[in-house]
Amino acid sequence: MEKLFTTMLDLLHTDTIGSWVNGQIELGSGELIELINADDETVMLRYQDADPAIAATIDEAAQRAQQEWWAMPAKTRGRILYQIGTEIRKEAEALGWVESLSTNKPLNNAKAEILIVAEMFEYYAGWADKLHGEVIPVPTTHLNYVKYEAMGTILQMTPWNAAFFTAGWQVAPALAAGNAVILKPSELTPITSLMLGALIERAGAPKGLVNVVAGYGHTIGQTLIAKANIRKVCFVGSPKTGAHIATAAAKRCIPCVLELGGKSANIVFADANLDQAMKGAMAAIFGGSGQSCVSGSRLLVQESIFEKFVASVAKAAQQIRVGHPQHADSDIGPVNNRKQYDHICNMLAIGEQEGAKVVAGTTPIPERDGFYINPTVLAGNNQMTVAQEEIFGPVVVAIPFKDEADAIALANDSQFGLAGAVWTNDVARAHRVADQVKAGTFWINSYKTIHVSSPFGGYRNSGYGRSSGLEVLREYCEVKSVWVETSAQPAFSFNYGTVEG
Ligand code: NAD
Repeated sequence: MEKLFTTMLDLLHTDTIGSWVNGQIELGSGELIELINADDETVMLRYQDADPAIAATIDEAAQRAQQEWWAMPAKTRGRILYQIGTEIRKEAEALGWVESLSTNKPLNNAKAEILIVAEMFEYYAGWADKLHGEVIPVPTTHLNYVKYEAMGTILQMTPWNAAFFTAGWQVAPALAAGNAVILKPSELTPITSLMLGALIERAGAPKGLVNVVAGYGHTIGQTLIAKANIRKVCFVGSPKTGAHIATAAAKRCIPCVLELGGKSANIVFADANLDQAMKGAMAAIFGGSGQSCVSGSRLLVQESIFEKFVASVAKAAQQIRVGHPQHADSDIGPVNNRKQYDHICNMLAIGEQEGAKVVAGTTPIPERDGFYINPTVLAGNNQMTVAQEEIFGPVVVAIPFKDEADAIALANDSQFGLAGAVWTNDVARAHRVADQVKAGTFWINSYKTIHVSSPFGGYRNSGYGRSSGLEVLREYCEVKSVWVETSAQPAFSFNYGTVEG
């Protein structure tokens, strides 16, 4: 743990966790929160939940910083955003190590995610001075122009599975659009988000532009939604919490973007390149121990190849090295926390009761401490609980289908609509399937690639709004339409306009 304390001291000037507010750490005074090591279940750190009084301090700091930020030339904001990317790159080693320790991702995966976050800030740096308005060719004598203005302060709430990734994904575009941010990371993984807050300031952003609150969602999270001077809530997390948050925000007429869970269908036709489809199916579900919102957790396989294909996935799954996240020979680490571990074990038990066949994987792993789950392949049908509910672990349910229509019907027989994929060598079929599956992201002969430049978000219970690409910049703006009369003899009317005919 000494390395963790040194890293925190270097960047945050503290060896304990508090909230990053107006450029310094404010210790909480609430309930004790424990960060548990998922490998051996020992306590790594204890810290106190943020005090609700913090909301007022943040409001003041964020408001002042946002006005300063918005008053800067857009080009200067862009340069600072780019510099944030540079600061992240400089600290990639330390950030990657802490992220691996907190999320239990293997070190290499965690480090790779840090660099992706640097790229997010670099990408939105380029947008800062290109977010310009439009002139609308209205059919009256007016000049009508549209301006995009910053909203003010945005509250962003992120989950534990990809703490730093989701923080960057949320914060970078909100800043590019000229806003201040209150970031409330999961109470289980706050450290790299706090480090991000410090690096943003080191890059030259005004103090208080990004404030990071360390604490529980049901306490300080709810206080912020109910009391903070915010103009929007952007939430990444579970559907249940998302609904709860949207309800609380609606009471204040505050809009939300919700990025929620999924149960994505990964469809394999008999005519696909089956070796690539098998590798794709593995990457789709087992990366990050299956704790990814876009996981291909339903593997739909054409009947004629079902047994052989599923056996090949099961064989490959058994070769995945499950181990300590900081050991070089681990492909996946333990799942993040006790609650998640118990949930996965419970879902596996339900699967067994409902008749799902275990093709690979046994859990719990009897001889091992920690929250380790073996990569598991189940064979079942789409009505089973394990095929309908999010498991959020290294568990895939293989389901046979007859033909194209059947595959599409099964893919869409879900409350979710976050992502999906099809594997086939028939180009026309690939596009037909992509067209008909109700999901915000869809891959053809590929899986899991996302990029900050492309819009990301869900259909149905997977959420609403988009959190990347150009689309998200619109989410973070107020839109103003300005009408300028240009006629020397304007017409005045009791109606809404003066259009003839
Ligand atoms: P969660 O919903 O429990 O928590 C997410 C955030 O909400 C955390 O910051 C938490 O502290 C806060 N929170 C929890 N209860 C709250 C309450 N009552 N009021 C206010 N805030 C509250 O989610 P999780 O368990 O941390 O993450 C796993 C979930 O996140 C999965 O469902 C996964 O699919 C989803 N996820 C979605 C995406 C996406 O982009 N769609 C990305 C990553 C994770």
